[in-house]
Amino acid sequence: MNIKNHRAKWVLVSQEKVMENGCVTVANGRITAIGRGGGTHLEGEVLDHGAGVIMPATINAHTHLELSLLKGRIPGKEDFLSWVKAIIHLKDCLTNKDIHQGLLSGANELYKYGAVLAGDHRSVSMQFPDTYWPVIIRFREYLRLEPAEILCDLNKDKYLSLAAHAPHTTAPELIKRMKDETKRHGRIFSVHLAESPEEAEFITTAKGKWAGLLNERGVKFSSWGLPAKSPVSYLDDIGVLDDKTLAVHLVQAGPGDLDLIAERGACVCLCPRSNNRLIEELPDIPAMLKRGIRPALGTDSLASVETLSLFDEMAFISESFPSLNSGDIISMATINGAKVLGMGEELGTLEPGKRAALLYLPVYTSSAGMLIRSLAAGSFKGLPEVIR
Ligand SMILES: [Zn+2]
Repeated sequence: MNIKNHRAKWVLVSQEKVMENGCVTVANGRITAIGRGGGTHLEGEVLDHGAGVIMPATINAHTHLELSLLKGRIPGKEDFLSWVKAIIHLKDCLTNKDIHQGLLSGANELYKYGAVLAGDHRSVSMQFPDTYWPVIIRFREYLRLEPAEILCDLNKDKYLSLAAHAPHTTAPELIKRMKDETKRHGRIFSVHLAESPEEAEFITTAKGKWAGLLNERGVKFSSWGLPAKSPVSYLDDIGVLDDKTLAVHLVQAGPGDLDLIAERGACVCLCPRSNNRLIEELPDIPAMLKRGIRPALGTDSLASVETLSLFDEMAFISESFPSLNSGDIISMATINGAKVLGMGEELGTLEPGKRAALLYLPVYTSSAGMLIRSLAAGSFKGLPEVIR
């Protein structure tokens, strides 16, 4: 058996538990023990990583790797609809080769910033081998205004699932069909929800800019059951809000919506840097935590953010919500992400039996409390090293 003992000044086991002079023992790709690193009694190879911290690898629960080559190609401040139109136009100019290159370079960037698992909305099929790291859950995304067949066989790949682009861009019949299909296979269904003011205006009034665009294109939406109280309640009305639905964004979500999310046990992923860039609004994270919602974090795509780094996402949250507990922020980037992607038993914390997916970071502090605050705030230099 190939046994390795990874030692460091600090081991962040989970949000609640930090060990000084800790050691994580790994055998055949799994964690077998966590304890004190001192002494010479350890069986197998001993690796001293240094005075920094070993922590669980991060989980990026929402991205669009296929848009990676659009980095820096979308003009500055635009309204949301113009941004979506710019993306659609630029995406149409990408060849299949560009998209595949984007998928690979995006996956490399995830790994460079210490993510070992990601939820990726994508409009093309490209399968990574089962042994590939990071593990990528591919949500085949449909953006269709008319009911359509789902040409995607979930039996073919255990890491494959389905996503609707959003309630205002996807016909409700298709959303329901996708939800049924994912339910039948026990998979997570993902959807952008309550992201932009335009989406909320359309869903709550059946009027506005988006309705105008649909009318221009001759799309009939009189059977969509609109207006609804809110995007969140609309999704509940059509029966797809449950504990295997991953709602991404939730910026346009009031107290009643968050109550409903909590009541249904729906999974949540937030992408605050992307929201800040596109609509200059942020989700109400404290109100979510107060209700027992445990949001995961995603970066969204390189078309709307500078990096696919969860450390950058955490630093942005720490700065934007100074009263949030740093441990909660770290959980959002680790265990909460693993749970919403259905891999909470495998990743997200350091526990015997889980996959060995560790990071070593050069964060030098004198106390456990300061360590957690520094990690959440990104107060360190250098990149994480993935240890497997
Ligand atoms: Zn997105």
